[in-house]
Amino acid sequence: MEKRIAIIGGGPGGLSAAIKAAESGLEVHLFEKGEIGSGIKCAEGFIDTLGVLEKPAAGVLFKVGRVNFFNGRAHFVNLPENLGLWMIDRATWQKSLAKRAARLGVDIRENCLIEKERLSRMMGDYRFVIDASGAPSLKSKVYGFLPDYTRNATLLAQYAVEGDFGFVGPNTILVGYEHRYIGYYYIFPKGPDIANIGVGRFNHAKKNRGVRLKRELDRLLNHLGLRDYRILNNFSSFTPSIGITRLVWGNVLLVGDAAALCSPLHGGGMDMACLSGRMAAELIASNQVDRYPQRLWHMVKKKFIMERRIGQLWRLFGNPLISCVLKSPELVRKIIFNKPPLPQLISLIPSGGNITSRCNPFAK
Ligand SMILES: Cc1cc2nc3c(=O)[nH]c(=O)nc-3n(C[C@H](O)[C@H](O)[C@H](O)COP(=O)(O)OP(=O)(O)OC[C@H]3O[C@@H](n4cnc5c(N)ncnc54)[C@H](O)[C@@H]3O)c2cc1C
Repeated sequence: MEKRIAIIGGGPGGLSAAIKAAESGLEVHLFEKGEIGSGIKCAEGFIDTLGVLEKPAAGVLFKVGRVNFFNGRAHFVNLPENLGLWMIDRATWQKSLAKRAARLGVDIRENCLIEKERLSRMMGDYRFVIDASGAPSLKSKVYGFLPDYTRNATLLAQYAVEGDFGFVGPNTILVGYEHRYIGYYYIFPKGPDIANIGVGRFNHAKKNRGVRLKRELDRLLNHLGLRDYRILNNFSSFTPSIGITRLVWGNVLLVGDAAALCSPLHGGGMDMACLSGRMAAELIASNQVDRYPQRLWHMVKKKFIMERRIGQLWRLFGNPLISCVLKSPELVRKIIFNKPPLPQLISLIPSGGNITSRCNPFAK
């Protein structure tokens, strides 16, 4: 019991936690409701926003060399060589993480859905349980904090589309925005003839009330002349950011989307899932779980404060602000890959309206 931990969820958060825990000498049981790498809802752009992660060990399709910020016109931003942004095949990547975890001795049980009652039993059977079940987390279903996940969420609709995506450009992803709502759209090619195309809108922007994303996505395909392309799959979902104020519930720790760690600006969350999973496992192994909320906030606070500010400005001033930002490729680079020195960057962005630099939301 002393060294036994359970992990619920075989996504990036759960798998990263499993590897780190096994490396730290813990006995790990990981439970995944489906098969590892199945049912993924993602645009598959792995972005290392803190500049601390290694290149994904498998599934890399290409390193993104430039971003086409599309604003009626194309604004190409070339990315420096040392910036970590890769298009990946997530299923391949996650399967390789699972293999690595298994080699380290992690007991992975697929097709094993954990329900509320089982979670209660697990809390007695294991020293710690890491809830990496995504959003809303399994734990939230027990304690009823489900609405916290949508409080600061970005809602998304996405198609995987087959067709000719040569127009996006080699090693390039396209991000654009519409005037009809506060949000963005993206074309993330996985190769010359397949791409993830999606639209996202901030859940809490007033202007977005009544916007139906699926309709916007169809409109986008028409607008871009992609109407006849073959749609391979489609889904709607959301990315939660900083809505959960409590990360440790008894001996259960929340990581990744379960901890609402997606970017408040662009919704990306794979990097935070990996980092929080590793951190939770490391702190369990060193008997310092009580430090988890504080440590995690320390790691992410600059990124989140800045991204929230930009998101709030976007909602306040609308798309003209984005047009203005796009005129400065250097600012765009800093915003996406908020490399230090962040304080200077934050000071570049004017304050206004009800913009606040929130203190640690996990402190409660
Ligand atoms: C449309 C869309 C596009 C996105 N694009 C990007 C992107 O381009 N880049 C990026 O970085 N992020 C992106 N994200 C966010 C990213 O997908 C998540 O941040 C990331 O997957 C979080 O990883 P996780 O391990 O915390 O959770 P998940 O990936 O959700 O993994 C949770 C796992 O737990 C399993 N599970 C759930 N409940 C149970 C249960 N009760 N019992 C057992 N197993 C369970 C699930 O099957 C799943 O495998 C996108 C999200 C969406 C919705």
